[in-house]
Amino acid sequence: SFPPCVSDYFQFDDLLSPDEQALRWKVRSVMEKEVAPIMAEYWEKAKFPFHVIPSLGALGIAGGTIRGYGCPGLSITGSAIATAEIARVDASCSTFILVHSSLAMLTIALCGSEAQKQKYLPSLAKLSTVACWGLTEPDYGSDASSVKTTATKVGGGWIIEGQKRWIGNSTFADLLVIFARNTETNQINGFLIKKNAPGLTATKIENKIGLRIVQNGDIVMKKVFVPEEDRLPGVSSFQDTAKVLAVSRIIVSWQPIGISMGIYDMCHRYLKERKQFGAPLAAFQINQQKLVQLLGNVQAMILVGWRLCKLYEKGKMTPGHASLGKSWITAKARETAAIGRELLGGNGILSDFLVAKAFCDLEPIYTYEGTYDINTLITGREVTGIASFKPAS
Ligand code: FAD
Repeated sequence: SFPPCVSDYFQFDDLLSPDEQALRWKVRSVMEKEVAPIMAEYWEKAKFPFHVIPSLGALGIAGGTIRGYGCPGLSITGSAIATAEIARVDASCSTFILVHSSLAMLTIALCGSEAQKQKYLPSLAKLSTVACWGLTEPDYGSDASSVKTTATKVGGGWIIEGQKRWIGNSTFADLLVIFARNTETNQINGFLIKKNAPGLTATKIENKIGLRIVQNGDIVMKKVFVPEEDRLPGVSSFQDTAKVLAVSRIIVSWQPIGISMGIYDMCHRYLKERKQFGAPLAAFQINQQKLVQLLGNVQAMILVGWRLCKLYEKGKMTPGHASLGKSWITAKARETAAIGRELLGGNGILSDFLVAKAFCDLEPIYTYEGTYDINTLITGREVTGIASFKPAS
């Protein structure tokens, strides 16, 4: 019953189950009606539209593939296509959900105790509480396995001391998933810290040129006490964090796919409507060539993203697969946004026209969850057996 999706040229919908299709159109409908009209304004103001959280919560997608504990138990493809449909309208909105669901909630589901899952996941799934996920530090981004925030064992719990940077949702999150180095074992452990914990502050990072709606924060933790019951028992080294990242990178890959679908849909409409030299822009061969290049990019990106989902479902997906998917798809999306911006002429630099906003939003996506380079090196290590993250000594 929904208008045909012009970017769905190879009829990707046919590859979805009836439930996944229904979810896709439900998400698109809510995003088009409730979110699309306001996002350019909030993006310009770099404010978060808190009033849309209940509508996003009602979509029943937070928690993604997690089963039980009030979570939706979606297929990975369902979770992916829902992410793409959100990103098609607004990338920041999809990042908000991604950090909350595919990073924070997934970490609790994979690494939390039974009591932690029962206590925290049901309200997070309804989006009546919001979570963030803090790994990156001011001095450790790509080199995340070297983070310096410390966790020191004391009677009844832990003292967390250090800083985190760039943490999405952290300025208002009710629950913070934080990674810190155990001072006894020197390994990375995970902790759940509640909003307003004494010693904890999160200050918004200003002046971003992309994902301006997402509230990224600088977190400072000065002797923050975390009770033993809020230590994640399943995080005993950086490898446990990397396992969560490999799964969330599947979903992250669907953000640039959705953004590119939105760019193509917008450009297709624009080229048919706007006239120059007495003809629609779509009548010029150079413009058609660019439009078809975008169309080809979107089809290829969807198929790579879809294959990642299927490999994951079959238990065959490796970290290298996820990293290649994330890096390649994001690079193609960047190319798509640059050409799309060109096709809109002057309007291509106005955030009101979606393409300029999408162009800027892709930059942080290219960098977070492992930069293009780091993901390339993860795949490179897998296919050659040689790690090349550190300069040769
Ligand atoms: P650096 O690590 O300083 O890298 C700078 C450049 O050097 C990059 O081009 C990089 O690819 C390259 N480089 C670094 N090391 C190597 C190497 N060995 N070989 C080749 N090239 C290399 N983090 C969180 O924990 N939680 C969040 O919610 C979160 N949200 C974010 C949201 C936004 C908008 C942004 C921008 C970042 C977010 N991050 C988050 C942090 C993000 O994951 C880091 O920015 C990213 O890992 C890169 O780290 P860095 O910025 O310190 O860059």
